[in-house]
Amino acid sequence: MAHSPKSARSGRERKPADETPGSIPMHRLEEHFSPGEAAAKRRSMIEKLTGSSLKSVGSSGLDYSGIVNKNAENVIGFMQMPLGIAGPISVRGSYTNGEFYVPMATTEGALIASINRGMKAITLSGGAYSVVTKDLMTRAPLFEFKSAGDAVEFVAWAESNWKGITAAAESTTTHGRLKEMLPFIMGNNVWLRLGFSTGDAMGMNMATMASEAACSFIEENFPKGHMVTVSGNMCSDKKESGVNSLLGRGKTVISEALITESVLGNVLKSNAQGLHNLNMKKNFLGSARALSGKFSGHSANAIAAIFAATGQDIAQVVESSGCFTLTEPRGSDLYISVTLPSLEIGTVGGGSSLPTQREALSIMGVSGGGNPAGSNASKFAEIISAAVLAGELNLLAAQFSRDLGKAHGRLGRNSGAR
Ligand code: NAP
Repeated sequence: MAHSPKSARSGRERKPADETPGSIPMHRLEEHFSPGEAAAKRRSMIEKLTGSSLKSVGSSGLDYSGIVNKNAENVIGFMQMPLGIAGPISVRGSYTNGEFYVPMATTEGALIASINRGMKAITLSGGAYSVVTKDLMTRAPLFEFKSAGDAVEFVAWAESNWKGITAAAESTTTHGRLKEMLPFIMGNNVWLRLGFSTGDAMGMNMATMASEAACSFIEENFPKGHMVTVSGNMCSDKKESGVNSLLGRGKTVISEALITESVLGNVLKSNAQGLHNLNMKKNFLGSARALSGKFSGHSANAIAAIFAATGQDIAQVVESSGCFTLTEPRGSDLYISVTLPSLEIGTVGGGSSLPTQREALSIMGVSGGGNPAGSNASKFAEIISAAVLAGELNLLAAQFSRDLGKAHGRLGRNSGAR
């Protein structure tokens, strides 16, 4: 390995250090050293090249060997975040029945306190009811043909060859099952949006590998066209899209609660009519005026903090935080619900098996594979949507009582009570 601090700091163009003749490329250090040693060597190289100290980055006691060829490349250490707890929140559903503490990793002061107060209000009012209404991870391979006529013929062929396509796809996985195939045609192009049940896994690798096998079967048996890509953006992964909101991706989940008049007054310093009016004006009128596809206050806050704590794919916060927050005054009580069309989560696979993330999942009793398979991930989805519900409720209350800035000043700026 070569170190060249002077040229690095000068900002002039230079050969990357791991391309210097005779040196070991940075990404191949694990072939010569243990994962921990390789990370330490990379860290020391970056420290020398950039003149920065990475003492904290390297201070974790976590095992580097669990990361290699699995979670990250060119590892130099661990990024640490504060982990807090919100709850308990009482949640009932098809997979949940009890009170849950929810781990959240964040650097936004006031966030956990906000969700915590919403959870208290929901629990004192009798709890939340959560339900998963659809559960399919999608991949949408794109096929190209000479003409629109061939594309139409292909769609008919694919529909009548569902069994063969399914068998090919499912040959790559024990838990993955192909459940849905929706064709979308544009000119001479066809997207096949394939929907898989994926057990307790979020399922993106699983669905991608299964789709690749399905595409090989298709190209062998319908040679008039060819696959352009296994992922043609109708999936749609890590991007804002209408398709996920309409058809769902991962888990479509709803949480609801009836907040009593006394809790509205005593805990949330508000009332049903006031919160409903605010919700309609802010989350529907305001979002429509802003041309936003999100009709909620801050669903991304709970989702991102739980994703970070539990080893989910954080980039999927983009579509997972899509949310419709509804309210209805019921006498002096307030009915409130959140609908999350595409919550993409897993309790096995990805980062969920890392030690700290696994422990965070275990706080909710959803670490690893469920019995039956899929039950842990569904339970987790029901808890997450209840946490989002709590966050939505509390944000409305904080804005109604004009406490939002004060709370952030108090808890988010290290400035004590104001
Ligand atoms: P994965 O770890 O790749 O696959 C899950 C594995 O767990 C499979 O080998 C599965 O076996 C096994 N498994 C054991 N018990 C299971 C259970 N109860 N339920 C489900 N599976 C069980 O995880 P993934 O969820 O498919 O993919 C997540 C990863 O994909 C994340 O790291 C994410 O960042 C990444 N990702 C990939 C892409 C992509 O295009 N490939 C895109 C976005 C994100 P069987 O398959 O034999 O059932």
